[in-house]
Amino acid sequence: MELIDDYQHQGQRKKLLQEIREMGIASEAVLEAMNRVPRHYFLSSAFDRFAYQNQAFQIGAGQTISKPFTVARQTELLNCARGAKVLEIGTGSGYQCAVLCAMGYKVHSIERQKELFDKARPLLKAMGWRPELYYGDGYKGKEVFAPFDGIIVTCGAPEVPESLLGQLAIGGTLVIPVGDGEGQRMFTFTRMTENEFTRQEHGEFAFVPMLASRAPKAMR
Ligand code: SAH
Repeated sequence: MELIDDYQHQGQRKKLLQEIREMGIASEAVLEAMNRVPRHYFLSSAFDRFAYQNQAFQIGAGQTISKPFTVARQTELLNCARGAKVLEIGTGSGYQCAVLCAMGYKVHSIERQKELFDKARPLLKAMGWRPELYYGDGYKGKEVFAPFDGIIVTCGAPEVPESLLGQLAIGGTLVIPVGDGEGQRMFTFTRMTENEFTRQEHGEFAFVPMLASRAPKAMR
C-alpha cells in the first residue's frame, strides 16, 4: 500500500478546511484533526482529484464516504474530551474513524459490509491508527465495551436504536442522522441521568441507510 501525501494534496486539504470553516465549523480541534488525515487515501487513486472537494463519494458495496463538512459537523457535535471512548456505527472507508483517532479518542467502530471492513482495517493500520474494528450489526452497539462517552452513527437511521442510548455514559452524547429515504435530520441525545436524555436538532443531511444486520450470528 503506497501512501503519499504530497504538497498538492496538503494544499488542497488546507483549502477545503478553510471552506469548511467558512461554512460554520468553529472547532479548531476538529479542523486540525481533519488536516492530519489525508482523505485521498480513502478513495481509489483514480479519484484522487475528488478527495478534497466537499462531496460524498462512492467507496464500493453501494456505500459512500460522507461529505467532509458532514464529518466535521458530526465530530464537532460529539464534543468529547481527548482520551474519551467513542463508538462509531458505519466504518465504511474508515475516514471518519481516522478523524476520531486524530481527535485523541479511543475508537471502536462497527461495519456490516464485509468488503468495506476488510478494506478499512489494513488501511487504518498502515496509517498508524489503532481503532478497534468490528464486523457486525451496529444496531446492537458494543455492550461489552459500554458505556461510551460518545456514539456517532454515520448512516441514516429509520429510528433511534434504544440499545445505543443505553450504551451512553452519563454526560455522553449520541450523534445520529434520523430519517428514511433521501434526507435525514441530525440529532444529538445527551444522557443527563440514568433515565433522562436531552435532544437537540441540527439540520438536514443526506446519508446512506442504516440497514438491519446480515453478518452471520457468530460475527455479531
Ligand atoms: N463513516 C464512513 C461512512 C460510510 S457510509 C466513512 O467515513 O467512510 C455508512 C456506512 O454504514 C456504510 O459503510 C454501511 O455499510 C454502514 N452501515 C449501514 N448499516 C449498518 C449497521 N446496521 N451496522 C453497521 N454499519 C452499518
